Amino acid sequence: MAFSDVSGRGESLEIIRITSNDTNGEILHELELIEENLEKIMCHPEVKENPVQIVSIAGAFRKGKSFLLGFFLKYLQMDIQLQECDWLSERDKIEGFEWRGGSERVTSGIQIWSKPFVCQNKFGEKVAVLLMDTQGVFDNESTVQDCASIFALSNLISSVQIYNLMQQLQEDDLQHLEFFTEFGKLVSEQADETGVSNSRLIFLIRDWGCPYEYPYGKEGGEAYTREKLKIKSNHHEELKRIRRNLSRCFPNIGGFLLPHPGKAVVTKQTYDGTVKEMDDDFVEMVKLLVPYILSRDMMMTKRINGMEVTGKDMSKYVRAFVRLLKN
Ligand code: GDP
Ligand code: MG
Repeated sequence: MAFSDVSGRGESLEIIRITSNDTNGEILHELELIEENLEKIMCHPEVKENPVQIVSIAGAFRKGKSFLLGFFLKYLQMDIQLQECDWLSERDKIEGFEWRGGSERVTSGIQIWSKPFVCQNKFGEKVAVLLMDTQGVFDNESTVQDCASIFALSNLISSVQIYNLMQQLQEDDLQHLEFFTEFGKLVSEQADETGVSNSRLIFLIRDWGCPYEYPYGKEGGEAYTREKLKIKSNHHEELKRIRRNLSRCFPNIGGFLLPHPGKAVVTKQTYDGTVKEMDDDFVEMVKLLVPYILSRDMMMTKRINGMEVTGKDMSKYVRAFVRLLKN
């Protein structure tokens, strides 16, 4: 379900694409920056001179990332007064970033919604919020290098990184995250001496199956994440190292547990995104998740080298990061 910019609502624009070239039988993947789209987004009059806050979602493919961003769009398209009451009703339909049933991936590389959402931060200053969708990490067409590059770049430029996982947070999810973060550091250290990401990291667990142990939502998610990231005396040295390193790289970690969206969403071939067909408890939790992620306390303007990053700066940084990632 996707719509193009027919009514000025915006559209998803690809800013990074992974291209594959066949060189004498060897397939080489390359990051390609779509300069024209990057300019369109970052030099928008509401973005260029304003501090930027990018909301990013990353994780394996076919796990409902693009679908979820549709709820963020719906929320941000509402008037502020309406956001505070019932911003999602049974009659609504979720659309925006292209999402699809089946097993083929849809998103490839990095896409950003063309329309910025101008909001006020907790100090009353104007900021431009942008929504970013990423290619599935670890699908069968990408190499580890592609995944690491995409994830690293999305981390470097986002204010909130939602790490989207199915059913639980497993040891290898932490391993991947740590590996990608370390990879990103090789790049960020050349651009930012602080070496610490000021992205807030949210572990979002989809299809959470044990609400009796940890309840759905933010509190359950935070308790679950804390437990999973806790260093235990019987942990192998490597598991301890990963946890220490992640806590150092992400001083700000949260969690959220979402229920299954309902049978129709997942199995009905003709499902078109209507809220009416989603399970009630899923809708109830999504209605809490979106304002939680976008709350003024959560959203921090990106800082690189201690300086707030505007759209104009962001465009410069993305170019520099892509150049470094290509080497
Ligand atoms: P992406 O590759 O991660 O961006 O996944 P998509 O957003 O394209 O969605 C892939 C499929 O997952 C679609 O058929 C959705 O209907 C379905 N889906 C969306 N949200 C969820 C969820 O929370 N749980 C499950 N099990 N499926 C979902
Ligand atoms: Mg997608």
